[in-house]
Amino acid sequence: MSQPNISAADLCPCASKVQYQHCCQPLHLTQAIATSPEQLMRSRYCAFVVGKFDYLIATHHPDFRQGLTVEQLATDCPQWLGLHITKVSPFDTTGDVTFKAWYIANKHIDAIYEMSSFVQLNGHWLYTTGKQMQARLPNRNEPCVCHSGKKFKHCCATLTS
Ligand SMILES: [Zn+2]
Ligand SMILES: [Zn+2]
Repeated sequence: MSQPNISAADLCPCASKVQYQHCCQPLHLTQAIATSPEQLMRSRYCAFVVGKFDYLIATHHPDFRQGLTVEQLATDCPQWLGLHITKVSPFDTTGDVTFKAWYIANKHIDAIYEMSSFVQLNGHWLYTTGKQMQARLPNRNEPCVCHSGKKFKHCCATLTS
């Protein structure tokens, strides 16, 4: 599936409300490194959205990659709707981030709802493993998952019919 083209001046897909060029782009271009598990998590979600699959490999701890390839990531990538970080643990050299990453595939909306674990290695935060949970779709009158501010029924829910 083709991914949206995000330009530097667009708001970052990670829902930070900051321009991409001042948020995840410097990380994607290896001009900066993430200083917290949450920042790495946001930049990894964002890399999925913009199709920066090599960044996903580079920030995945080599001991936990299990042969994951750029091709696999590119093939399985759905259309992403929005990121919601629900919990961030305190961190020192390890840390956890719980999030829902909403997507639509085959007119079906679902989320990756996961507590991701991160470890700092030589000053770089890396993703290790995730514990997956079951996400609940919003009710029709609840705010949409994509941060539009509209009700779900007037927004992304219309993509499913
Ligand atoms: Zn961002
Ligand atoms: Zn929406």
